[in-house]
Amino acid sequence: MDLGARLAGRHVLVTGASSGLGAHFARLCSGCGARVSVAARRRERLEALVAQLDAAGAAGVAALDLDVTDPDSVADCFAALPAPLDVLVNNAGISGSGAAVDLPLESFDAVMATNLRGPWLTSTHAARAWRDSGRQGTIVNIASIVAERVAGGVAPYAVSKAGLKQMTKALALEWARYGIRVNALAPGYVETEINADFFASPAGEALIKRIPMRRLGRPEDLDAAFLLLASDAAPWMTGALVPVDGGHLVSGL
Ligand code: NDP
Repeated sequence: MDLGARLAGRHVLVTGASSGLGAHFARLCSGCGARVSVAARRRERLEALVAQLDAAGAAGVAALDLDVTDPDSVADCFAALPAPLDVLVNNAGISGSGAAVDLPLESFDAVMATNLRGPWLTSTHAARAWRDSGRQGTIVNIASIVAERVAGGVAPYAVSKAGLKQMTKALALEWARYGIRVNALAPGYVETEINADFFASPAGEALIKRIPMRRLGRPEDLDAAFLLLASDAAPWMTGALVPVDGGHLVSGL
């Protein structure tokens, strides 16, 4: 089955598309023939991505201002969508690292606002439109393997991703009646701006040795699982969390 072909012609909104995995997913979807809208706060980055996609022959790519923590910004972003939406990719996220014992409360709140409240706001917006129009949309939440296990120094991040896992399941249950599917991708460690400094450090190098496949992920390692969830290739699949992690979740204790 050609997973990419099953995304052709769909309209995909990727949040946090100004860098890292979000930009990668936008390129992937566009390369599959989907119409892509990219959203984040750093407009100049989005415009550079749009120029890149335009140059590659994509049509109708839109760059939309979005702060997922702000309900007005989310409403404005959805109002500015150039066409009815088919796929929402909740990718925007921050890691907010630091030892829990001394972590400023503002850091905890920022992680929850971005990683948990953000997907709630965008998902409920999308679902209201799909329910009211009868369109059968799909949501792909970008969680993490720390939704299942924990790592030191990123307690709020792990809490937020575990919450996103449960949000995926709860909304899948409520929205199956509308034909809306909600699934989550749980990547292991993939080198991007969110973690590049860490993986260059001795602690980061040690962590890579604990991944059973002994390497970091590359963004394209996520492509097949992402397309499975984002396309209509698995129409009976909802409420699932799919890890793609080089075996990290099954590493020996
Ligand atoms: P990056 O830091 O490269 O990208 C994060 C993106 O989120 C940026 O585009 C940023 O855009 C956006 N963002 C942050 N805050 C907001 C906000 N308030 N409103 C809108 N957009 C926002 O990190 P990654 O690409 O690595 O991470 C992408 C997702 O993948 C995250 O959810 C992360 O938790 C998850 N993930 C990453 C892993 C990895 O190893 N890299 C592993 C597992 C999960 P801007 O600042 O322009 O708004």
